[in-house]
Amino acid sequence: MSTIKNVTVLGTGVLGSQIAFQTAFSGFEVTAYDISDEILEKAKERFATLAATYKTDGLDPDGTKTEAALGRLSYSADLAEAVADADLVIEAVPEVLEIKQETYEKLGKVAPEKTIFASNSSTLPLSALKDFTGRPERFIGLHFANQVWKFNTGEVMGTTDTDPAVFDTLVEFAGDIGMVPIPIHKEKPGWLLNSLLVPFLSAAQDLAFGGYAEPEDIDKVWRIATGAPKGPFQILDIIGLTTPYNISVHGDEHAQQVAAWLKENYIDKGKLGLASGEGFYKYGADERA
Ligand code: NAD
Repeated sequence: MSTIKNVTVLGTGVLGSQIAFQTAFSGFEVTAYDISDEILEKAKERFATLAATYKTDGLDPDGTKTEAALGRLSYSADLAEAVADADLVIEAVPEVLEIKQETYEKLGKVAPEKTIFASNSSTLPLSALKDFTGRPERFIGLHFANQVWKFNTGEVMGTTDTDPAVFDTLVEFAGDIGMVPIPIHKEKPGWLLNSLLVPFLSAAQDLAFGGYAEPEDIDKVWRIATGAPKGPFQILDIIGLTTPYNISVHGDEHAQQVAAWLKENYIDKGKLGLASGEGFYKYGADERA
């Protein structure tokens, strides 16, 4: 068990709410912080939905553990109050550099000296944030995958300034909250998962865009020949097509052509992926939950 007891999660959106709930579910006292009381009311709804999902997904069939988790969650829209006794702050605010830098600047001033700051940022480099924290040796990355209770990786990555003891604490903490800790030895944009996944998904889109084969046949060869449960287009449907579109549209000329293909053939037709009922595949209501 790590030395962490009290955890504060900044941002209660898609990932922040999952991280806060999973941490409370694992027995920690958790404060959920967001910028207004109205948003915190929405967070309560997200937590109730997560509690129901944990039950149906078999993590807590009789509801006692999720009930206890809800009891360990508290809420605050006041940053100083939210972190007053935090051993660890996990930051899951929007993926916008200025918002993150400003958040760390404020946080560094109000958090106790003991507090470790961990960022869940997917694409912004940790080294662009560390100097805003006022404590780069206690600043680290802890990266989760969406649906943390199911896809439970905890990638742990420091910067050149991170204290090795802080790194070890976070590896231990990731395990304590039910993640499989994945230590990364040095700073890598995209972490491990996205360093693998983004080129893989781009290669698949290139094949379909280039007219070499149909998406379902590209998925088929990948599944059958490697034993993987899902092909790249099934994964893209789960992620949602606007994310690969946003990545490609900011790329080179070829990537922009792929983005235009995605837009014309899928996005403009409302085929946004699993959540919208159709992407590269069609889905029934029961598959969308
Ligand atoms: P989101 O937009 O769903 O949620 C962001 C939350 O932060 C909102 O509740 C918002 O009110 C709040 N917020 C806005 N400004 C804030 C501020 N100044 N201080 C505190 N909170 C503020 O975003 P998300 O998808 O949960 O992503 C959050 C972080 O997690 C990003 O860094 C993202 O890269 C990372 N991440 C997301 C995923 C994913 O699949 N969505 C996966 C891994 C990592």
